[in-house]
Amino acid sequence: MPRPIRAVVNLAAIAYNLELIKKIQPEWHCMPVVKANAYGHGLERVVNGLQAADLLATLELDGAAKLRALGWNKPIVLLEGFFNQSDLIDAQALKLDFVVHSDAQLDALALFFQAAGKLAYKPRLFIKLNTGMNRLGFPEEQAAAAIASVKALVQQHELPAPVLMTHFANADAADMRAQRPSPARQHTALMAAKPDEWLCSLGNSAAVLNCPELAGNIVRPGIAIYGASPGPRTAAEYGLRPAMQLCSEIIALQKVSAGQRVGYGSRWQAPIDSTIAVVACGYADGYPRHAPDGTPTWVNGHVAPLAGRVSMDMLTIDVTHIPGAQVGSVVQLWGEQLPVDTVAGHCGTIAYELLCAVTPRVPFTVIDQPNI
Ligand SMILES: *Cc1c(COP(=O)(O)O)cnc(C)c1O
Repeated sequence: MPRPIRAVVNLAAIAYNLELIKKIQPEWHCMPVVKANAYGHGLERVVNGLQAADLLATLELDGAAKLRALGWNKPIVLLEGFFNQSDLIDAQALKLDFVVHSDAQLDALALFFQAAGKLAYKPRLFIKLNTGMNRLGFPEEQAAAAIASVKALVQQHELPAPVLMTHFANADAADMRAQRPSPARQHTALMAAKPDEWLCSLGNSAAVLNCPELAGNIVRPGIAIYGASPGPRTAAEYGLRPAMQLCSEIIALQKVSAGQRVGYGSRWQAPIDSTIAVVACGYADGYPRHAPDGTPTWVNGHVAPLAGRVSMDMLTIDVTHIPGAQVGSVVQLWGEQLPVDTVAGHCGTIAYELLCAVTPRVPFTVIDQPNI
């Protein structure tokens, strides 16, 4: 018998979250982000829930190839663009659009286009400006020069109208206006550089939910599509539905007397005579080893706190007060009853990291259940 751990992806939740975002601003072109294997959910599992999207964004070429193999015929945008010349050949074959964020990419592109002669596919270029995140993008002072070079390329090779984009550093902050840079400041900088005939793309999940008026024409929601929160509010407050549940079962019970300790390092000590349940889920499944005692799990309608260090294949929870907890009882590590954001908060990280970290040994199933 296989270990009882499993992850369940709910397509209906993904489609619902996409609809919810589209309704915020019906004029938006919605480009869900499916990098990192759809934030750990599996490209092949989520793509059917994203049919209402106008474009998809990813980062990895093999992910883009997989999307094409899965039958996705609408645009795909590579968020970091190409890394070398051979990526450009593949991008042509796969009909990919891509970000251009540096002079080096711009130069390589000009050379490639020149050598290619007639292009098999005329890509839409997403020109990325650095408006204060200081990660990727043309600095504001170089925006005019970069845009002029792009315009020349576009004219020479009859490319579609480019998109000017940037990325917010602080759209998830509770006090956005107090941040440096503020989303409003980044928006102003982008708009000052944007040629009239170009569209713009600014909004990640946080911007789409917290400052939709600054999100631009093409929005790039990632985490919200999967039903977790970018912050500062909870996913439920935004009306999002969790797309992934991670579940396992109790495989053993231990009675421990007050004062006895549990697990590696004997970190947890029973304050009273207690019942400890052993759950088939460990860090080799992607559950964070640094989860502290008290991190919630969900058993039979109750919260069961983590008790003791997470090991590779198992974790231990305190079920002393949970009626009916027995071998075979289902334990939700996160999902419908227990937001992944809550678990992440206990672990000092964000839902993004937990969702991406589920390992290949965890079997996935896909459901399509609108009502849960
Ligand atoms: C990952 C990514 C996003 C999505 O961010 P979320 O916070 O998950 O919505 C948007 N834009 C770019 C450029 C990204 O790399």
